[in-house]
Amino acid sequence: CAKREGRNRFALFTEEMNSTVVERVTLESYLNAALEKGEFCCHFQPQMATADDRIVGVEALLRWTNPVLGRVPPLKFIPVAEDTGLILPLGLWALETACAQQVRWLSQGLPPLRMAVNISPLQFRNREFCDQVRAIVQRTGIRAEHLELELTESAVMADAESSVGILRELRDSGIRLAIDDFGTGYSSLSYLRKFPLDRLKIDRSFVSGIDRIPANELIVKAIVALGGSLGLDVIAEGVETPEELECIERCGCSEYQGFRLSEPLTAEDFAHWFEDSGYV
Ligand code: C2E
Ligand code: MG
Ligand code: MG
Ligand code: MG
Repeated sequence: CAKREGRNRFALFTEEMNSTVVERVTLESYLNAALEKGEFCCHFQPQMATADDRIVGVEALLRWTNPVLGRVPPLKFIPVAEDTGLILPLGLWALETACAQQVRWLSQGLPPLRMAVNISPLQFRNREFCDQVRAIVQRTGIRAEHLELELTESAVMADAESSVGILRELRDSGIRLAIDDFGTGYSSLSYLRKFPLDRLKIDRSFVSGIDRIPANELIVKAIVALGGSLGLDVIAEGVETPEELECIERCGCSEYQGFRLSEPLTAEDFAHWFEDSGYV
């Protein structure tokens, strides 16, 4: 019993317990109502081709602002939404919002950008997932080849045999597929070869300080080589400095994303940023 270990120990124990549990319960109660109350929005972070400095796409990233809690970062609320199941309707909302935005930008004269959307493992494993994605493509009018789903290694490797079927179904609809945070999870190379993928997204942890950390450079080179031999494009995420950019280019990465180029922006700010940037 904690009490026997003395007063201080007891107090510390309960305080820590309480703050974690209270934070979690508070988050959960606000989160459940947040979708209906319209508290979410999507921000968009540009992706650039290293060869010709063209903007080739954007990644949609969920943002939550609650009147009481303020801004809550995705790394805090996504895991809770996964536990409660809210990620299912929330993920669909993000997907539809992102697709609709891509179509709106097109109508405003922006070039056809690839729209990358994060998909949680729970969504991917949902029986209706493929149908739901196709319905959203239809409703929003986005061309399927302009949509890219970002899946994690753990999501597709968990039940690799059934993943092959799901991925093929999505791919047959023309949708692009990327593995997010590549290198941080566990991937079976034989399945990577079987999966109909388009892109590997190198995790930020390997990109960060790549110009100073030889091991990171070796890992990025290895992922680029792997991608090349599997016929997959490779994009680096989290590029923050000119030195990192130079290094990932030297490693053969064809695209990148990160604060070096731009942080995630609102839809309106992105359109302005794009027009002002002079990029085409
Ligand atoms: P992710 O998909 O790997 O997204 C990249 C994260 O890195 C984003 O964090 C982005 O803001 C951040 N980032 C981009 N460039 C840089 C950089 O140069 N330096 C640093 N330090 N960070 C950079 P964010 O927006 O906080 O999202 C965190 C994670 O939350 C995402 O990681 C993704 O796993 C998840 N997430 C976000 N939106 C969604 C969504 O709509 N659905 C699902 N299922 N997950 C989402
Ligand atoms: Mg992502
Ligand atoms: Mg990522
Ligand atoms: Mg990451």
